[in-house]
Amino acid sequence: MEKICVAVRVRPPVTPVEDLNGNQWKVDDNRISLHRSLSGTPLPPALSYTFDHVFDENCSNSRVYDLLTKDIIHAVLQGFNGTAFAYGQTSSGKTFTMNGSDGDPGIIHRAVKDIFAEISASSDREFLIRVSYMEIYNEEINDLFAVENQKLQIHESLERGIFVAGLREEIVNSAEQVLKLIEMGEVNRHFGETNMNVRSSRSHTIFRMGKTQDSSDSSYLDDAIRVSVLNLVDLAGSERIAKTGAGGVRLKEGKHINKSLMILGNVINKLSDGAKQRGHIPYRDSKLTRILQPALGGNAKTSIICTVAPEEVHIEETKGTLQFASRAK
Ligand code: ADP
Ligand code: MG
Repeated sequence: MEKICVAVRVRPPVTPVEDLNGNQWKVDDNRISLHRSLSGTPLPPALSYTFDHVFDENCSNSRVYDLLTKDIIHAVLQGFNGTAFAYGQTSSGKTFTMNGSDGDPGIIHRAVKDIFAEISASSDREFLIRVSYMEIYNEEINDLFAVENQKLQIHESLERGIFVAGLREEIVNSAEQVLKLIEMGEVNRHFGETNMNVRSSRSHTIFRMGKTQDSSDSSYLDDAIRVSVLNLVDLAGSERIAKTGAGGVRLKEGKHINKSLMILGNVINKLSDGAKQRGHIPYRDSKLTRILQPALGGNAKTSIICTVAPEEVHIEETKGTLQFASRAK
């Protein structure tokens, strides 16, 4: 298992700078620190963390992609598995990073484009590219390519390994085709929601691209078969539930989110500790880690981008996210 690449990205402030109240996150190369100032006099940093990369508010999705995902895409095309996560509280920029904006496409868009560009430049055509898009909401797996596929189950078989039974997998042959499917999936992701951000901030979404040997090939089950999977994961908001004073449905959602993010943290922590101290890895404790199990251990390449909001009001959540990121290193 290669070292997990961990990065932090600070989004631009959405409120006026005065609201920062003298507390300010400063980015300096691959370090992020919390500076305070008393009546205009800056104090030395109170808290400071370093990561593989720290991106400030001016960083583009293109740069994030180049530094965090490009290698993963390359590895997947070589036959390895790879996963990129976006972790952070709601409104910190996870979906911006994954899906992008009109002028600056996100990681998913760039990955899809690059995969097809590399394929068309290579002579190896004996494989199929399949894509799927799912959501885990309250520990239930729903298909974003087919709304009727709800509460899907995770199965395991000798030929397929761990898989989500009944999940629609589209065989695709162009980037445009994939981007159209994703657009449709996005509509399904927000289906029935009055507030677009409500459901999407409470579910994990996994966009998956798999490269498999063409099954018409008679050597399908040979040892030589190389199946590789890329997962691009937009995690549910990591905010504490108490903050919103939630009850009922919101409380139930919050408990599922906190639990699955905690388990993800434990799994990643054990993986990044290295083989010796590893011991039991609790993949089976959540749907998310179970689905991602084949793409997290072994020869997989993994990166995590932790997004944070710069405002004073979010300071505790930002500290929490930086702690999660530190544990993943
Ligand atoms: P999340 O998915 O974590 O809830 P979003 O990605 O929806 O957060 O971001 C919240 C808002 O902030 C959106 O309006 C988004 O366009 C904006 N935003 C987030 N990150 C950036 C960024 N790096 N640059 C510019 N705008 C951003
Ligand atoms: Mg989002």
